[in-house]
Amino acid sequence: MSNFDLKRLVRPNIWNLAPYSCARTEFTGEASTFLDANENPYNANINRYPDPFQIDVKKKIVSIKGASVENICLGNGSDETIDLMYRIFCEPVVDNVVAIDPTYGMYRVCADINNVEYRSVLLDENFNFSAGNMLAKADAHTKIMWLCTPNNPTGNALNTEEIKDLIKEFSGIVVLDEAYIDFSSKPSFVKNLAEYPNLVILQTFSKAWGCAGIRLGMAFASTEIIDLMNKVKYPYNINILTQERISSMLDQPKQVEEWKKILLNERETLGHNLASLQYVEKIYPSDANFLLVKVDDANKLYQFLVSKGVIVRNRNSVSLCKGCVRITVGSPEENTELLKAMKEYQ
Ligand SMILES: *Cc1c(COP(=O)(O)O)cnc(C)c1O
Repeated sequence: MSNFDLKRLVRPNIWNLAPYSCARTEFTGEASTFLDANENPYNANINRYPDPFQIDVKKKIVSIKGASVENICLGNGSDETIDLMYRIFCEPVVDNVVAIDPTYGMYRVCADINNVEYRSVLLDENFNFSAGNMLAKADAHTKIMWLCTPNNPTGNALNTEEIKDLIKEFSGIVVLDEAYIDFSSKPSFVKNLAEYPNLVILQTFSKAWGCAGIRLGMAFASTEIIDLMNKVKYPYNINILTQERISSMLDQPKQVEEWKKILLNERETLGHNLASLQYVEKIYPSDANFLLVKVDDANKLYQFLVSKGVIVRNRNSVSLCKGCVRITVGSPEENTELLKAMKEYQ
């Protein structure tokens, strides 16, 4: 990697920030009487503030995902960790980021909210990217590069060698969003974290783990970057109910493996069945739990499906996705409903 200097990348106000010192952080050790946080002693189980660093949850995550507790920051969904990247690294109006296009919409929304310039680089016809094209868009004020693999809404996993090249060549932060990694045939970068001091990997419990409703996202990075994230996030960003629920989920990884098997199987079956419809022009290869499908008229199909009570995602106006809808792989019953409606469309 070329001249990685974390301090140079971080906004000075964040580098110098003295974080809020909460009651639960100041005290470490064993105690039984907590009179330090102005909590109500009644209403057991939810009356206490949650662990601000979610240590018990992180230990369980480590046992499944690898890395170590100091290399993980948890967010209120990946969306919080995406926003944290801007708040830590990007000076509004001055700095910029570079991202592949098309990709997940929140990278741009958070850039807009933080008043940070967002530069996009079009993927090629196979929905792949080149590190060179990304670097060509960068200047001295480029702090972050956004990659998403498998990518949303295209569904494909990005080329591993290009990802490695970009991380090595870019002297700023590379964020690799692995929201769909559990469905991919390619391995996660989490096990290579130690090689890359400028890499931030995002994962989530919203997809394969079936926990979108409790809002929990993970960021994996060097301890230096994780320390910055912990400093900037709200102290109690992950509530007790979420911590308890994910803790019991993490005790049953076999259940998740089972769901994954069903969904990967359904992905294949659904792809075959869709391919037999004459107005379906193309089904793009997917490493995720959805299919990007090109049809004769995406707007018309979308409206027709709505009238049948089946909701898919219309991606007609997204770069390189003209004529496309994005269809989540559902349960066998849901997929049958979808196909029934799609067969009635003309
Ligand atoms: C669904 C999705 C997420 C998940 O976001 P959460 O806030 O954790 O629910 C993150 N990144 C991408 C690319 C996604 O498609």
